[in-house]
Amino acid sequence: MVLAQLGGSISRALQQMSNATIIDEKVLNDCLNEITRALLQADVQFKLVRDMQTNIKKIVNLDDLAAGHNKRKIIQQAIFNELCKILDPGKLAFTLKKGKPSVVMFVGLQGSGKTTRCTKYAYYHQKKGWKPALVCADTFRAGAFDQLKQNATKAKIPFYGRKSSSKCVEVVVIPKSDPVRIAVEGVERFKKENCDLIIVDTSGRHKQEAALFEEMRQVSEATKPDLVIFVMDSSIGQAAFDQAQAFKQSVAVGAVIVTKMDGHAKGGGALSAVAATKSPVIFIGTGEHMDEFEVFDVKPFVSRLLG
Ligand code: GDP
Repeated sequence: MVLAQLGGSISRALQQMSNATIIDEKVLNDCLNEITRALLQADVQFKLVRDMQTNIKKIVNLDDLAAGHNKRKIIQQAIFNELCKILDPGKLAFTLKKGKPSVVMFVGLQGSGKTTRCTKYAYYHQKKGWKPALVCADTFRAGAFDQLKQNATKAKIPFYGRKSSSKCVEVVVIPKSDPVRIAVEGVERFKKENCDLIIVDTSGRHKQEAALFEEMRQVSEATKPDLVIFVMDSSIGQAAFDQAQAFKQSVAVGAVIVTKMDGHAKGGGALSAVAATKSPVIFIGTGEHMDEFEVFDVKPFVSRLLG
């Protein structure tokens, strides 16, 4: 279910409630059930939806509300606040400082949009006056380096990897496909070159294998990232929570980027990812192009969700 449809269902539920002459327990329950259905269909984790419903019922005590109160508005506000609460882990992502070398490590499953997002993240900061650089420590996926190289070259961002065939001066030949070594050498090189945002792209195998998590852990230990960003494909559905949690248990995830929010994207994954990692969503990916990358803002996102 795309965001617009989800918003439609919720708006409809609220509209039905506002059409009712008297807002009693039954009307409220019907409305909440309709919203629950919409959120579940949008892949918001069942536990989050159930907790939200319980909280709203606690907040909206119909018996206590005086006759003059606009109950529909109060209920609508309670739903809005609860959704905002789920998306707000209560802390900001680590703030990077321009001019001071920072290492940002990207993690996520293969196909989540990690490599695409690394360049967009670099490009976004480059436009704001940062000096970013990209390190390709994804030695598992054939083509990962070429993809990063292509994107980085287009955006004129220096990069480091292991392939020797490129004519680009930024490429360094490394005989072994050792992701930890590549990551460390890339980070050291760009620190010497005074880059202030060194982005490390890591492998993301097709499923949660122990080897992937061990590799990530080693890359993290060796490069000591200031921030680890978990990249999640918004269309992974109800699996979002478990996946995000598995990554969080291996490396210190401090922020989330939710990709593929365009087309068939579902909004629910964002809520699950925040709950599982206790980290904020910082950007959303809305397409493959360089500028299809938006800063995540809780309130507008929820407003859009509610239609
Ligand atoms: P990685 O394996 O995690 O590094 O994923 P990639 O960055 O290679 O992305 C996997 C595929 O998804 C590629 O074909 C990308 O072009 C595509 N992709 C990445 N981000 C988005 C997005 O926000 N929207 C859409 N529609 N496609 C995307």
